[in-house]
Amino acid sequence: MGAIKISRRQFVKLAGTASGSLLLPSGSARAAEGRLRLPLHKAIGEAPSICPFCGVGCGLIVAAQGNRVVNIEGDPDHPINQGSLCSKGMSTAQLNTVDGKINPRRLQTVKYRARGSNRWEVKSWDWAMDEIAKRVKATRDQHFIEKDAEGRTVNRLEAIASLGGAALDNEECSLISKAMRSLGLVYFEHQARI
Ligand code: SF4
Repeated sequence: MGAIKISRRQFVKLAGTASGSLLLPSGSARAAEGRLRLPLHKAIGEAPSICPFCGVGCGLIVAAQGNRVVNIEGDPDHPINQGSLCSKGMSTAQLNTVDGKINPRRLQTVKYRARGSNRWEVKSWDWAMDEIAKRVKATRDQHFIEKDAEGRTVNRLEAIASLGGAALDNEECSLISKAMRSLGLVYFEHQARI
């Protein structure tokens, strides 16, 4: 019979289940009492994610309760970091939660400051998307270069640049590249490479 393959994460889960059942008192009343003291089903959801800080792209396990992140640790099954995180990755939870409360510095709405204005206005996402599309089109219409100084067809746009982030995955990078190249962009960078 072949050996049973088990991942480190599955092993930890099984070990937790086994030790949990050893800790529970026997008998339904005592078990119920034990459950009150040792809740077996926490209202905490765990989800895999990727550290947003640099191009290494370490895997995270994010535990959230409602809209609060209560814990983030390295994903032991992730092939890049295998459970480890640097100090920046370990502090990722603070992007969402500080001292048990939603980080007050976290922006949750679109903020817009008009040209020449000294105050921020709250806008909707629909408004922001329309505004971005309008400005991209106007800039492209005004600055698109069909031919260079020697008369060669270049079809490029030098008035807009695109800057990606380390949290983007391969598929997102592929889609963004295609969208930007289709506009004619040539200034195209990634935050983790700068
Ligand atoms: S910042 Fe640290 S934890 Fe985050 S991806 Fe880079 S090396 Fe990994």
